[in-house]
Amino acid sequence: MSKTLQAIRGMNDILPEQTPLWRYFEDSVARLLDGYGYRQIRMPIVEFTELFKRSIGEVTDIVEKEMYTFEDRNGDSLTLRPEGTAACVRAVLEHGLTGGGQPQKLWYAGPMFRHERPQKGRYRQFHQIGLEVFNLEGPDVDAELIVLTWRLWKLLGIRDAVTLELNSLGTPEARARYREALVDYLSARESQLDEDSRRRLASNPLRILDSKDANTQALLVDAPKLADYLDDESQTHFDGLKTRLDAAGIPYVINPKLVRGLDYYSKTVFEWVTDQLGSQGTVCAGGRYDGLVEQMGGKPTPGVGFAMGIERLVLLLETLGKVPESLARQVDVYLCAFGEAAEVAALALSERLRDQLPDLRLQVNAGAGSFKSQLKKADKSAALYALILGEDELAQQVVGVKPLRDSLKEQGNGEQRTIAWDALAEHLASCL
Ligand code: ATP
Ligand code: MG
Repeated sequence: MSKTLQAIRGMNDILPEQTPLWRYFEDSVARLLDGYGYRQIRMPIVEFTELFKRSIGEVTDIVEKEMYTFEDRNGDSLTLRPEGTAACVRAVLEHGLTGGGQPQKLWYAGPMFRHERPQKGRYRQFHQIGLEVFNLEGPDVDAELIVLTWRLWKLLGIRDAVTLELNSLGTPEARARYREALVDYLSARESQLDEDSRRRLASNPLRILDSKDANTQALLVDAPKLADYLDDESQTHFDGLKTRLDAAGIPYVINPKLVRGLDYYSKTVFEWVTDQLGSQGTVCAGGRYDGLVEQMGGKPTPGVGFAMGIERLVLLLETLGKVPESLARQVDVYLCAFGEAAEVAALALSERLRDQLPDLRLQVNAGAGSFKSQLKKADKSAALYALILGEDELAQQVVGVKPLRDSLKEQGNGEQRTIAWDALAEHLASCL
């Protein structure tokens, strides 16, 4: 017997039971972003490896050890995108979307790939919705990005479960000065650092700030603070953001150790975190990256963005019991037909109903079956009503409308009725 084929570890099927919640989430975000004037962009899933090396940075975890990189048949080195910002910037540059300095507010959604250790909330193929804004340098845009996520949390009913953490990384110059001071301080104590942090001391010292190692964290208590190195411009920008968040009534905590994993951030960085998902608690993260577009060969172009992890937000909705009840029902009406002639009529009738009620979720029984078996299927479909079309109904051009749920009794729709075909759409509209 041949071995059962399996999906790759950390790459999940999203099964029919789960897709309604995914669609609810994705549709909620899309509608919200339409409301704020963000436009969708769709980039390829595969890009030249060089793109990610140049944008994310050679000495980040992602580029050092998490990318799915392969050679294609032309011998080009390609990579499955580990995140969306790099490709978005590439696309924006390639198509001149920011060429004249015009603002762009963009969003994208889709799968990302990182070779990480799979666990709850951390997968090798995962999905993000990301936003990127170009050519707007003020804190008003940083605030808008946060305000709109805050609104999303309200729409989804999860506002109480998430906390906003904020920090400012300053300009690259300010960060370089801080980096030097931090390296001086830590180099003198190198033997006390954990192994990862020792490695990062040379490559990416700021990442040491979010080390999970207790000894390293103890050492950091007296280390130089990024806030003390902040340049005036970044300080003013950060104050501007905080003033706006205060005015909007959005609570936040300043986390001086929040540095984010990627090289390209400057000024504002933020994360929305929850304590409901164990150690994979960051559901949305981003920041400003004013130097990135230039670093990738464009004109100096301010940028700011974030990405949220769909798996983690879907998990959070489930954990908090915030899955809307309406998602349980995917079928409104189940049409049963008995005998060849009734089946033929049922198809025509169902198409007419679809014309009349475009939002109706109507499932037509397939595969014939006895009265009992068709009604059993109707019941299992979770539909509210079964429509019954037998020989007698066919002869009289009517259908039986049979309520399937007890809840319909309370609304006064608990009785089975016989309705003429011509009046069916109106009847269904009134009782659904
Ligand atoms: P983490 O610290 O959890 O590794 P990150 O800083 O690497 O996150 P980003 O690159 O900023 O994450 O991606 C933004 C969001 O995408 C994260 O906040 C998270 O919700 C989600 N995300 C990132 N990596 C994964 C993954 N491997 N599996 C599931 N979701 C992920
Ligand atoms: Mg990560």
